[in-house]
Amino acid sequence: MSQSENLFAQAQKYIPGGVNSPVRAFRGVGGTPIFFNHAEGAYLYDEDGKRYIDYIGSWGPMILGHSDPRIKAALHAQVDLGVGYGAPTAIETDMAKKVCELVPSIELVRMVNSGTEATMSAVRLARGYTGRDKIVKFEGCYHGHVDSLLVKAGSGALTLGVPTSPGIPASLAEHTLTLDYNDIDGVRETFAQMGEQIAAIIVEPVAGNMNCIPPVPGFLECLREVCDASGAVLIFDEVMTGFRVALGGAQSYYGVTPDLTTLGKVIGGGLPVGAFGGKREIMEYIAPLGPVYQAGTLSGNPLAMVAGLTSLNAISEPGFHDALAQKAAAVRDGLKAAADKAGIPMAVQGAGGMFGFFFTEESSITRFDQVMACDVERFKAFFQGMLTEGVYLAPSAFEASFASAALSEEDIAHTLKAAEKVFATL
Ligand code: PLP
Repeated sequence: MSQSENLFAQAQKYIPGGVNSPVRAFRGVGGTPIFFNHAEGAYLYDEDGKRYIDYIGSWGPMILGHSDPRIKAALHAQVDLGVGYGAPTAIETDMAKKVCELVPSIELVRMVNSGTEATMSAVRLARGYTGRDKIVKFEGCYHGHVDSLLVKAGSGALTLGVPTSPGIPASLAEHTLTLDYNDIDGVRETFAQMGEQIAAIIVEPVAGNMNCIPPVPGFLECLREVCDASGAVLIFDEVMTGFRVALGGAQSYYGVTPDLTTLGKVIGGGLPVGAFGGKREIMEYIAPLGPVYQAGTLSGNPLAMVAGLTSLNAISEPGFHDALAQKAAAVRDGLKAAADKAGIPMAVQGAGGMFGFFFTEESSITRFDQVMACDVERFKAFFQGMLTEGVYLAPSAFEASFASAALSEEDIAHTLKAAEKVFATL
């Protein structure tokens, strides 16, 4: 029995399914989840001492690679000063200033502790600001486990086959209108019918929770247009794309400006951080300035702030995102070339530091139904083969993959050699 098998058996005695977040349980790919002991740079090391090249990066935050010395030093220094006060600190202002500088559509920003809290708060704020109840989201987009957003959701909800969770009152879900991602006509029709009832559109500007689907030309622009015409608030959920697709997020990459932005993952440098921010006029509706309540015991925690700010400073170095995008493209295009050579139909796509690969005959994937038609069994076999070869991919066919700055040319070569070997067995 491996150490991971042993630890998983023990974990299941005390933790539902043995994990604290469902996709970690490997239900989407079968087998036992790997238990990790430590991580450094591009590598994860499991409890049996095996090394893996990591393409998940703790589901996004580890854009610099693991155990970055700058983040470690900042954390050690803060531990000596105190791990939290529940009162204002200078570092919170430094962090907020940095976020506003990097994402100019954000004029005021509030820190929270997860992406879920960020989207939950942004939706409440949009409803409070507009005085309307209805929310538009897109099928296969995941915005955290917020009740009104866990309707036809992606990510783990999709992996486990429960895109709309039990436990969400129908009277709440009825306010969530779910449209098809990249369907410009569908958006226009819905707004023509009921635009004045809609508080907000929330969208992943690159969908990363049904694998990786960039927006088709005109899609994000259409969302901006219908929100302007109807008075709805446009929320870009950049929890995944923020600081990853480009330094200024997907909104700078595609040149479309939302009213509110939600952030998570990279912003915390690996610690639990989320944030939401945007137009001053809207953000002033939040307590204590305005009537929409939102709070958090640990929000703006100094350990989380120093880790996050150190990470944001590091990725602000000139050329960082070009290099990251090159690494992501090298892996993505290398996988496609290896699949072609092996006669395995595959489509690859991505944006900046994130990418996806699909086992499909189609040349590109722009819609949810195309994602669902991909060969999940082949993905599972590929995943397991790559794991054996020491490459750790997301254990679900519905997750985007991430490059980190720590990924070397040798790591990419190792990954592609492993893929060639595994493709030959599929
Ligand atoms: N929004 C998006 C786009 C995400 O990808 C995620 C998490 O994967 C969330 C929100 C929720 O973030 P968290 O898991 O930190 O609550």
